Amino acid sequence: MYLFFSILLTSLLAGSQSARLPLTGTVFYLASGHGGPDPGAIGRLGKHRLPEDEYAYDVTIRLAQRLEEKGATVYMIVDDPNDGIRDDVVLKIDRDEMAYPRQAIPLNQVARLKQTTDAVNKLYARHKAAYQRFITIHVDSRSKGEKIDVFFYHHSASPKGKRLAKHIHQRFATNYRRHQADRPYSGNVTTRNSLYVVRQSDPPTVFIELGNIQNPLDQRRFLLASNRQALANWMMQGILDDYR
Ligand SMILES: [Zn+2]
Repeated sequence: MYLFFSILLTSLLAGSQSARLPLTGTVFYLASGHGGPDPGAIGRLGKHRLPEDEYAYDVTIRLAQRLEEKGATVYMIVDDPNDGIRDDVVLKIDRDEMAYPRQAIPLNQVARLKQTTDAVNKLYARHKAAYQRFITIHVDSRSKGEKIDVFFYHHSASPKGKRLAKHIHQRFATNYRRHQADRPYSGNVTTRNSLYVVRQSDPPTVFIELGNIQNPLDQRRFLLASNRQALANWMMQGILDDYR
């Protein structure tokens, strides 16, 4: 009997609590770029190799945690069952990421991207009435000397994707002004319909590039765990602005 009442009480509390959370009822699809047999771009730090997919994954899973805390339903479209949030500077390459729902990721790029959008679109159809957004996170690779800020792509025919990108961008601009007053933030929001996942995904989609994995200054943005957390937090602020 005690057990019965305590279960009842817990579920009542859980019910009343989740009803008050700001993102209750929303659905997010999160995909870090690459994964499985494809680590994406590889940066260098001394003798270490810095794999795009591991850094993108760590920021993505931090964002997932924040969204869930606020009551959102989150689907990790790329998931590494034995990697949670990691605080290491060097994140080791592994190849055991899976695609939702627990499928091996193919090496072929088009097959990999189609696997992502098929999974997202199928879930999107199931959640029809909800506020749904797809966010995919990458790290760019350019020549070593080129420093770039966090920037955002959306589809030209997606006003909702554009609006979410603008909201997150706005938070980055504000936070950069506060934390890095000596240097202006030059990240921007543009359309890029040529990106497969931007073009083929049904929910409003934002494609985020975290920086140039070859550039030593950009590397600091994702080598430090506290910075990876800040990136996730700022994305979260922009998402809350967008949903309000
Ligand atoms: Zn990438």
